Amino acid sequence: MLINYKFLNKKIIKIRKDFPFLKRIIYKIYNLIYFDNAATIQMPNNVIKVINEYNIYYNSNIHRGTHYLSNSATLAYERTRKIVCKFINAKYKEEIIFTKGTTESINMVSNSYGFKLKKGNEILISIMEHHSNIIPWKILSEKKKLKLKIIPVNDKGLVDIKKYKRLFTKKTKLVVITHVSNVSGVINPIKKLSIIAHKKKSLILVDGAQAISHKKIDVQKLNVDFYVFSSHKSYGPTGVGILYVRLDILRCMVPWQFGGEMVRNFTFFKKKINFSEVPYKFEAGTQAICNIIAFYTSLKWLKKNLNFIKIWEKILIFYLIKKLNNIKNIHILGKNKRISVLSFIIEGINSHDIGLLLDQYGIAIRTGNHCVQPMLNNYGINTVCRISFAIYNSLEEIKLFVNFLKKIIKIFLY
Ligand code: PMP
Repeated sequence: MLINYKFLNKKIIKIRKDFPFLKRIIYKIYNLIYFDNAATIQMPNNVIKVINEYNIYYNSNIHRGTHYLSNSATLAYERTRKIVCKFINAKYKEEIIFTKGTTESINMVSNSYGFKLKKGNEILISIMEHHSNIIPWKILSEKKKLKLKIIPVNDKGLVDIKKYKRLFTKKTKLVVITHVSNVSGVINPIKKLSIIAHKKKSLILVDGAQAISHKKIDVQKLNVDFYVFSSHKSYGPTGVGILYVRLDILRCMVPWQFGGEMVRNFTFFKKKINFSEVPYKFEAGTQAICNIIAFYTSLKWLKKNLNFIKIWEKILIFYLIKKLNNIKNIHILGKNKRISVLSFIIEGINSHDIGLLLDQYGIAIRTGNHCVQPMLNNYGINTVCRISFAIYNSLEEIKLFVNFLKKIIKIFLY
């Protein structure tokens, strides 16, 4: 691939102007370098503008109003459902449910679809899952006496397909797996995994939290039954999540949360409650209306920039690995193709110390167990340093980061 760096640099300078947070000066000295994008990605100007405009001009509740403000908010809210549907190529907009994040989406599936599972049924779960895709299943398995079976990974950090196939039995009802690891950045071959799952008559839930802002997602091509992600990892605000469920499955699911907006009519004198149609029966109460509306603008922005993001993040990660490979005592987790996330440890230095010292230079990285303790324990470690990129990161920032990292290593090791 021929890369025109001059063009890329110009583009990045222009894009960075779109992100006001980059103007922050840390400890009154350093320009902020933000490498914690896997935790939360920053919002571009136009998304922030929509949030402000909503609060000034049409803050109101949706669906139930007869007045102008409520109608405008309802239209904008439903417009987001349509764009999410298109963005992930779902077949019907009714397959899109708004939640407050990936975590709540998974909890909704475990409490709704999961609740129908029977004693002895089995769920396959990969060892590289974020705790939000483990704990709900662990709790459910205790409640319903289900069996959780761990899908192992090989030494490259990839799912071991042969071992995965062998885990299935007639009792397997669900596979739960992340699309991209939030620690190693490794991409799981979802299409392959879902073909196998369906052949074995199991459904598959994919955690797309770390994939959605880095690669094109097509739920029909991937052939998945459930796909979940968060707005705040897709250039949108916090408090918004998406749960995609294939319509025929969704129609058989019972609601998990109950209250206003999700019942068609109710009387104390009948036992049966008449719930609203899908997806509304899964959206009880008042949602994060403002942020859901703003998420429309995030997805429009992401769609426009996704091809560039894919190219640029590849360059960033390649450059980072090249620079880190020159550092003695460093161990990078995972050896495979990855998406803009990389974790490492430096022998003899605590990861938290590295994070704290980098912060003194205005560099934000993530340190800790990243809510994936089973995977880290598998590697025999407790904490790692994580670097994760977004579109606005630059080669210059990586250069500065590596220089400061080398300084820190010198302080500790020499
Ligand atoms: N899954 C993965 C892979 C994640 O990285 C995260 C967030 N770090 C989550 C799930 C949870 O997302 P949220 O906090 O937005 O619910």
